[in-house]
Amino acid sequence: MIPKIFIPREVVLTTRTNIAVRRTVPHRDLRRIGAWIFVDHFGPTTQTDGMVVAAHPHTGLQTVTWLFEGRVEHRDSIGSEQVIEPGQVNFMTAGRGIAHSELSTRTAGNLHAVQLWLALPDDVRHMAPMFEHRADLPVVNVGGATVTVFAGTLLGGTSPATMFTDSFGAEIALKRGATITIPIDHAHEAGVLVAEGSAIVNRVDTAHTELAFVEPGGSSVTISSTEGARLVLLGGSPFTERLVMWWNFVERTHAEIREAREQWNAEDPRFGSFPDHISGRNPAPDLPNVTLQPRG
Ligand code: MN
Repeated sequence: MIPKIFIPREVVLTTRTNIAVRRTVPHRDLRRIGAWIFVDHFGPTTQTDGMVVAAHPHTGLQTVTWLFEGRVEHRDSIGSEQVIEPGQVNFMTAGRGIAHSELSTRTAGNLHAVQLWLALPDDVRHMAPMFEHRADLPVVNVGGATVTVFAGTLLGGTSPATMFTDSFGAEIALKRGATITIPIDHAHEAGVLVAEGSAIVNRVDTAHTELAFVEPGGSSVTISSTEGARLVLLGGSPFTERLVMWWNFVERTHAEIREAREQWNAEDPRFGSFPDHISGRNPAPDLPNVTLQPRG
């Protein structure tokens, strides 16, 4: 399968430091990759204390946080307090509602991360929220590549994080001149984000910050790099439910979005509260003057 290349757009986040991220999903021509509905790439930056995201809510999704460099403290309204470092993953399953904050701390190196969202299927999206920190991830060495599986199963390694969709996610570190072929189920689609260096994905050049999207129907993805690369591979079964995504909420109808927005701004116990070192909360912005439509 010949991949299609997507170039990220820069998005300034509502944070105390107004950090900019590179977003490849959702894109006008790429709504999702399997159940992965959101792909933000941040850094690398020497401003290691640059991520100061005050309390904000989520519904209907799992946030998946993966660091290449740096250190970030996560706090949430179900009592979790967790520092995450490279090689570890945070899975926050929002279910019917949770609030959290993120605070990066000053380190000697850089801050470099991806923030990912997985959609929750309709039958579990109202579940109670949960948080998992996993440091015991499978690492598979193949040729000149090191693959750390943080979500689902890949190359025989299975992440211990709880999944609700048929999805996978991994970091791939490719040495200079290395080539890796990863078997992919023919029903799965996949995306390769180049976080460092450059790569060739199924024979197509993919530059730093770009994402190569591979449609279902192939049996493998072959990735090589002349200069070396650090990549994020995401994929899974196409997620066919229609969603309304707005701000930090993933729902099925405009009315559900409006209710979540009003409840967050009214400090409704649906989302809970918690102490942190940032203090304050990000209010939900105004809704647009149109009815938000579900999109597939
Ligand atoms: Mn968040």
